[in-house]
Amino acid sequence: MSSLFAEVERFIKTVYQGEPVVLHRPVFGGNEKDYLIECIDSNFVSSVGERVDEFEKRIAAYTGVTYAIAAVNGTAALHIALKLAGVTADSEVVTQALTFVATCNAVSYLGARPVFVDVDRGTLGMCPEALRRFLDTCTHRRDGSIWNKESGRRIAACVPMHTFGHPCRIDELAAVCADYGLPLVEDSAESLGSSFRRRHTGTFGLMGVISFNGNKIITTGGGGMIVTNDAAVAAKAKHITTTAKLPHPYEYVHDEVGYNYRLPNLNAALGCAQMEQLEHFVSVKRELAAKYAEFFEDLRIMFVREPEGCSSNYWLNALVLESLQERDAFLEHTNRHGVMTRPAWRLMSRLPMFKDSQNDGLRNSIWLEQRLVNIPSCVPMTACAAKRID
Ligand SMILES: *Cc1c(COP(=O)(O)O)cnc(C)c1O
Repeated sequence: MSSLFAEVERFIKTVYQGEPVVLHRPVFGGNEKDYLIECIDSNFVSSVGERVDEFEKRIAAYTGVTYAIAAVNGTAALHIALKLAGVTADSEVVTQALTFVATCNAVSYLGARPVFVDVDRGTLGMCPEALRRFLDTCTHRRDGSIWNKESGRRIAACVPMHTFGHPCRIDELAAVCADYGLPLVEDSAESLGSSFRRRHTGTFGLMGVISFNGNKIITTGGGGMIVTNDAAVAAKAKHITTTAKLPHPYEYVHDEVGYNYRLPNLNAALGCAQMEQLEHFVSVKRELAAKYAEFFEDLRIMFVREPEGCSSNYWLNALVLESLQERDAFLEHTNRHGVMTRPAWRLMSRLPMFKDSQNDGLRNSIWLEQRLVNIPSCVPMTACAAKRID
């Protein structure tokens, strides 16, 4: 086993040719510095400015939606998206346990609770059959809403997540949600640049949410975005992320409790420069993934590939090891030898805040939690330098 791990370690080191071998890091290979200096010189560094509008337009055009609303980070964007989807205190949100904690934190900010259904082993995202089974057996309809038979609470929304950038079976999930009249909010925080049958992730439901945190495929330092085709939702999102201030030449009037969640112009300036390179980042990450796929084909370690009919941004490359013991041995070997690898997140259903949440048994989620490992996925420097964009 250790000779197999040593072979993996050697391969990864040759890919990076002496660079630090880390999971991910931001790449600033374009106009970042110029746009930041321009932004500072303009004095518009805060939540009003041309770069915010431009960044929103770029994201809307790239993902193919009508509206994009920038926010200070992905978690804040999720918070607002869920609020606008109708999530209220004491309601419930169906989501997956295999996700980053922000998904469930946003649910909690509204006083709601997550309910966990299982994921597919192939896509790592919510399983449509598991969602339908849960809704069929554990809920009933009353007064135009869906109610959880066990808890008596209203089910307000469904939030699948595109894990590590790989699209989940979002068309089937959208169909189940439509059958039940359940608002669909996609946590597409990790999947900018990923599409399902040529349609960008995050655009299948009422809203999608993207993150531009420092570890995502493009970064604004911190930042997030809500994407939607719904004009009313978009207007409302802009309104409540900007303190719910009514337009007026000089008076301060606010018509509800709003949030100071607008992305600063400085961060958006970074975002505009990063957007100019997104296509390039996606293509070099896909090249890296193809190298990994070829290498692991001959080994008895499974490399996670994009689901059929999808194009993944391969944000974080992942392996599925044979057992928990093998996973731990792999993590131990690689990290000891200077190759950064990490296990997937601990399942949300095992965290103290969510351990009492209802779940459907989570067979595949538990199976994956014990076997998934992320391996170095940053764009190698050589690829950045070779195709520098000016
Ligand atoms: C990164 C991430 C978020 C949150 O984004 P931030 O910008 O870090 O707040 C939400 N969900 C998932 C799945 C993420 O990976």
